Amino acid sequence: MGSSRNQCIFKSSKLLQGRHEEDAVDQKVRRTLVTTLYASPLSLVVGAITTVGAAAVAAWVSEMSALWVAAVILASVAAVRIIAALGLSPDAEDNSTTMLELVYEIGAFSFALALGSTAAYTIVFDAPSQIQVLMVANALGYGIGVSARNAGRPTIAIGQLTFSCLPIAIACLLSSQVGLITLGLTIILLIPAQSVISRNIFGILRSFIASANANADLAQEMQELARSDVVTGLANRAGLNHAVTETMTKIDADTNLALIWIDLDRFKEVNDLLGHPVGDKVLKGVAERLVEVSPEGSTVARFGGDEFIVFCPVADLKHAELIASEIHCEIMCPMRLDGELLEIRASLGVAILPDNAEDADQLMQRADLALYHAKVGGRSQTCFYDPSMSRDLVRRREIEAELRTAIQRDELSIFFQPIVDLETGRIKCFEALVRWFHPEKGELRPDEFIPVAEETGVIVTLGNWITVQAARIAASWPEDVRVAVNLSPLQIRAPGAALGIKNALREAGLDPHRLELEVTESLFIDDNHSTSAFIEELSALGVRFALDDFGTGYSSLGYINSYPFSKIKVDRSFVSGAQAGQKSEAIIQAVAKMGNTLGMDIVAEGLETPEQVKAVRKAGCNLGQGYHFSRAVPDYLAAMLLAQEREHEPKQAIGRASA
Ligand code: C2E
Ligand code: CA
Ligand code: CA
Repeated sequence: MGSSRNQCIFKSSKLLQGRHEEDAVDQKVRRTLVTTLYASPLSLVVGAITTVGAAAVAAWVSEMSALWVAAVILASVAAVRIIAALGLSPDAEDNSTTMLELVYEIGAFSFALALGSTAAYTIVFDAPSQIQVLMVANALGYGIGVSARNAGRPTIAIGQLTFSCLPIAIACLLSSQVGLITLGLTIILLIPAQSVISRNIFGILRSFIASANANADLAQEMQELARSDVVTGLANRAGLNHAVTETMTKIDADTNLALIWIDLDRFKEVNDLLGHPVGDKVLKGVAERLVEVSPEGSTVARFGGDEFIVFCPVADLKHAELIASEIHCEIMCPMRLDGELLEIRASLGVAILPDNAEDADQLMQRADLALYHAKVGGRSQTCFYDPSMSRDLVRRREIEAELRTAIQRDELSIFFQPIVDLETGRIKCFEALVRWFHPEKGELRPDEFIPVAEETGVIVTLGNWITVQAARIAASWPEDVRVAVNLSPLQIRAPGAALGIKNALREAGLDPHRLELEVTESLFIDDNHSTSAFIEELSALGVRFALDDFGTGYSSLGYINSYPFSKIKVDRSFVSGAQAGQKSEAIIQAVAKMGNTLGMDIVAEGLETPEQVKAVRKAGCNLGQGYHFSRAVPDYLAAMLLAQEREHEPKQAIGRASA
């Protein structure tokens, strides 16, 4: 019972909704048709001139003073109508359709009645026959013509026809002349016949306009669809471009606009670890939050994979900072998905118009550049555009252009930093770290050019060169000292990567057991086949693998188990970084415990003071690396360190050295 009532309510509400929609369509059609009434005020002028002219001529020829009065009345009504038509624009939203229609109706009916009555007067008062013909023809012509012109509003059309023709018909029927009575009867038949024609024209017009409107609505819908993102419902790239262009044409010189470019950090990992449906939910959740937190008048768009843009008017820089920080906070709020709490992080780049850019394209570029800095600077942060970023970009481009030739010009060299046994103080290994001595820019750190090499793919050639050099130098060291080489993920995924390493070993004559390859957790984000094949093939030869910068990535322990790592390097930030403290000590302890259980070496990176050395030793690390022992040094100094160590054997361990 209840449910049938509900269904009833549902049905009637659907019916009502259908009615509303129909009404809305009718309203639109009616508006369009009323607009046709006002379409050409010139036709009103022409109609006025001919009819008033005819009445004036009739008055002049017949010398009937009443016809002068009629001419004046017709001229006055026509003048009022023309003025009203010029003053009322159907394009203005605040002129209601009903009002427009009513004004037209009053004018049209008055004019038609005046004209029809004038013609009837000439018959009743027996004006000269040429005058009767002139005025009757005029009135009938007007009535028939106008009933076609105004068929868009049939009431008006039929009303005008009736008011202009009926007085003539009555006058004719009341006369005692057979010809006129016949004319009267003809007019009486003409009125309904012409009304049917008007109605037919109206029907055709209405269905034509309705289908044109439906097509226009459909086109609009398609356009909106093309401009929105399927997953989040936000604007997509095209939608954003459209909104930006629209906004730019509307704003005045002192409007500030902020473009906030948001990139979700490590979203790929969410997708890979939790699956695409969860990834989509995250995107939707972020989209909702962005819409909620963005100020009125903002455009919120999804710009490809995991990037979003908020484009909004702002009062000043402070206001933009406030919005950006609200957006950041909102995104960082843990998200509950399928009962699990998920922490999402994001990097933001912001640029402001007109302070930072001259036009929309530049605004986008600069927000993108600011975002790049936010990501490179450690992610999960907001960067505002600064002109120095453009200078950095120029420098990056220069580095990009010169990096390819740097190897041939012999500007690169490999430095070596010892990794020391914390028990005995002996050097167990040297990490190969590349240096670029640029003829003009001076010494460049790898942090500056390795990312560029990765972006451009030069890393493959560069990495091969580094491995060959490092292996060659290591071959001259004592047998028990290893060399560690850093590998970028791109290098490992390149075709023939394992072959490159094997060739380097063969050329240098280095035992594979003495080569250690340092990889970071980012390698496993794309856990593809080539990565495992590479690791398996080289491990089988005896090459060792170390997990570098441990603790800075997504830190899923799964791959420690699935790959044959022999070493974990705990990132410098846990030892000497800003976050070093009790918590990191506990983390180091836990990692060391796990390492010991699994038979792995645990290296503490970035040891700078004796206290840090003591602390990590206590925490369970067996190896250490850092300025406390030595900076990275050229190959001859590395050889010297080894020689010194062996000279004083076994009593003394290595002390400090500097490059
Ligand atoms: P990484 O692999 O974590 O290398 C350790 C970095 O920490 C080196 O910086 C080293 O000089 C620095 N370091 C060592 N001890 C200390 C310390 O006690 N305190 C401080 N503050 N820093 C210390 P570097 O040489 O600038 O290298 C930076 C990064 O560049 C490396 O980080 C590595 O990711 C990359 N890189 C360096 N050489 C290569 C290479 O040949 N190939 C590839 N793919 N990447 C390389
Ligand atoms: Ca390393
Ligand atoms: Ca490291």
